[in-house]
This record gives sequence, structure tokens and C-alpha cells, in this order.
Amino acid sequence: MNLILLGAPGAGKGTQAQYLIDTYKIPQISTGDMLREAIKNQTAIGMEAKSFMDRGELVPDVVILEIIRERLLQDDCKNGYILDGFPRTIAQAEGLAEMLEALNATIDKVILFEVSNDVLIERLTGRRVCGNCGASFHTVFNKPGKEGICDRCGSALIQRKDDNLETATNRLSVYENQTAPLIHFYEKAGKLVKLDGDQAITLLQKQLSHILGA
Ligand code: ADP
Ligand code: ADP
Ligand code: ZN
Repeated sequence: MNLILLGAPGAGKGTQAQYLIDTYKIPQISTGDMLREAIKNQTAIGMEAKSFMDRGELVPDVVILEIIRERLLQDDCKNGYILDGFPRTIAQAEGLAEMLEALNATIDKVILFEVSNDVLIERLTGRRVCGNCGASFHTVFNKPGKEGICDRCGSALIQRKDDNLETATNRLSVYENQTAPLIHFYEKAGKLVKLDGDQAITLLQKQLSHILGA
């Protein structure tokens, strides 16, 4: 099962990816997580990506497509994967389609999480993420069992540098301009499934199970 999770920053892609990993035992491929790891390790890609990410702009397509090309060839992708935060431009979607064709594979479904902008801002500014495993929590909507500590792995929760009001606002307009065209792209391909992302996390999980057949 090859899935794409589509939606604005804060729409709940990472949160639902966590559920899908546990349920379907397939890996999440989050370009955002991979880029943050690259920055932490001070690799060449990390150095190149950092200034774009700090401003809430997209990292250049060529960089992203190279990261994905390597990742899809790894062993754990054999039974499927969840693409989270990729593709984010039409050029990336076309690059992905080429790669898949060469691998004789396809995307099964693209799940779109629709959430209004004021809710997205509340979610992004209150988000806390695990510095170790990347799990996502919220100070109000999705509190961890113990304040500041990750439920999954026990590590400390942090606030992402780009989850401040100014950068988050910019990321939402970048989404509208550069990523939202993918909705039509995948609708035309007959792969799009729309979900009301404003619903409770557990309700969305149930709907996903229904759609994917768990
Ligand atoms: P994305 O990966 O799409 O950027 P996240 O999954 O990190 O989004 O979610 C953004 C924030 O909103 C997090 O703080 C998360 O805990 C919270 N969140 C996710 N899904 C919901 C939901 N259905 N209702 C309320 N809050 C949510
Ligand atoms: P969110 O889901 O909250 O938008 P991500 O972790 O997916 O956060 O992305 C954080 C940042 O990483 C983006 O603002 C962008 O700078 C960069 N990034 C992640 N994925 C991509 C991608 N596919 N193309 C370009 N830039 C990306
Ligand atoms: Zn953790």
C-alpha cells in the first residue's frame, strides 16, 4: 500500500501517519523529518535546506527528489509506505510519478485533510514535537500523558523553530500557492480521498481504517 498524506501544515498528517505506521506496519516517509535530521547532522543537504525551512519556504525540488529517490529504494519500502509532506509541488509529483514508473509501482490513494486556516494556526503554534521520535502533540488539543514528555519514547518535547505565528502564516500561503494545485492533480488521477480534518483524531483514525480496509 503506497499512500500520500496531503494537507496544509498542521492538518494532522504526521499524527495520522503515526496511527497508520502502527496499524499497517509500513514506514512513514516524512521529508520534513528527514530534512530536520540532515540539519541536526550538518550534512550538505541539511546546510542547503536550513534557510528555506527557517523562513517557511519550500526546499528546492531537485534536493527533495534526490532524498526521495534514495529512500524509496530502501528495503523497508517493499510492502508500501506513507508519504507525509511529499510531494509538495507539481514538479515533485511528476518526479515521483517517473520514479514509480521505473519501479513498476503506483500510488494507491492520496488522503487529503481539509482544515480551516484559523484552526491550522492554532494547531501549529501549540504543537510540540518529540526531539527523538518526531511524534506530534499539542498543548491543548493533544496533550501528552506527562507534560513535556513524549508518550511514545519518553524523550523531551520541543517546539519547532518554524511553528511561530509569522513563519506558520507564511507556510500556509506557500501551501495555497504551491501545494494546493496537487489536489486537482490527484483528483484527475482518480486517487484523491477527502477527509474533514477538523474532526477528532480518533474519529479520523476510524475513517482511515474504513477507507483503507483494516
Ligand atoms: P502536520 O503533520 O500535517 O503538519 P501534525 O500531525 O503535526 O500536522 O498536527 C499539527 C498539530 O495539531 C499537532 O500539535 C497535533 O497534535 C494537532 N492535531 C493533529 N490532528 C488533530 C485533530 N484532529 N484535532 C486537533 N488537533 C490535532
Ligand atoms: P509541516 O507538515 O508542518 O508543514 P514539514 O515537516 O512537512 O512540516 O515541513 C517543514 C519544512 O520542511 C517546510 O516548511 C519546508 O521548508 C521543508 N519541506 C518539507 N518537505 C518538503 C518538500 N516535499 N518540498 C519542499 N520543502 C519541504
Ligand atoms: Zn518520542
